[in-house]
Amino acid sequence: MDQKEKEIIFLNPVFKQMIWGGERLGTDWPYEIPGPGTGECWAVSAHQNGDCMVREGAYTGKTLSQLWEEEPALFGNFENAGKEKLDRFPLLTKIIDAKSDLSIQVHPDDAYAGVHENGSLGKTECWYILDCGENATLVIGHNAKDKEELTAMIREGRWNEFIREVPVKKGDFIQIDPGTVHAIKGGIMLLETQQNSDITYRVYDYDRLSDGKPRQLHVEQSIDVITVPAKPAAECVKDAADMPKNQKNLLISCPYYKVWKIDVTDQVSFAQEHPFLIMSVIAGDGLINGQLIKKGDHFILPCGYGEVALQGQMEIIAASI
Ligand code: ZN
Repeated sequence: MDQKEKEIIFLNPVFKQMIWGGERLGTDWPYEIPGPGTGECWAVSAHQNGDCMVREGAYTGKTLSQLWEEEPALFGNFENAGKEKLDRFPLLTKIIDAKSDLSIQVHPDDAYAGVHENGSLGKTECWYILDCGENATLVIGHNAKDKEELTAMIREGRWNEFIREVPVKKGDFIQIDPGTVHAIKGGIMLLETQQNSDITYRVYDYDRLSDGKPRQLHVEQSIDVITVPAKPAAECVKDAADMPKNQKNLLISCPYYKVWKIDVTDQVSFAQEHPFLIMSVIAGDGLINGQLIKKGDHFILPCGYGEVALQGQMEIIAASI
């Protein structure tokens, strides 16, 4: 393997201003944000609406989508290795700063999106809570017991009955399967790992106006795709704040991604054996194979990177397919 292929791929995030966004990506995080109301940091993205650029090294200035096209060996050669064909970089990592509540949404699965959204992919995503206030909640699931009640609650706008709010705290991890009603509430910062897809159905937007008009709702599609009854709340949230130190702790393995938490207090080493490994430093700082990394850094260890040695005092969320 040529030496260039073993380089760590550091990426510059892309920022998105949103009506619900805050300023904390510029105050609590070391980013130069475009201004107030910066809701999203697209940290590892090859999406056309925010394609991250390589920060340093042999690929400086190239976008992640360009690398995916031009250097498939970095990502495990999905085209050539006889593996499942992937036509795009499959994951998207974001940090979200919600100053106010986001609209209540649901995503379809691949089968529904394939039929109803021009062959698009569905969307599965997961959240790691970076920070939140006391008594914070997320909307995860709903209270309808069957499809009939679900349909009635949505059509009649019985939102207080319908919406299920689940208490969360810093360090919680939540998997959002397709069909799960969900919304981020104001005051929460989280790191999201998701399938690189866009298909979102808005169930309810708290009757808010945007430029004087309510935002479009997708009532029929929502009724079609929402899972009834919802998974019990206790099964949705996992406490990942205090995992065993200095090892990779698997938080989720689903058909679209695997996500790990690594709490480094001393040192840890492992072999990078995945097609690629995304790493996001969410607290502290340290070294990766002698190179300094710190909170706010996001990078990819390419295919065949080999041994990874981490040391320092830091928390990392890692993801692969
Ligand atoms: Zn979502």
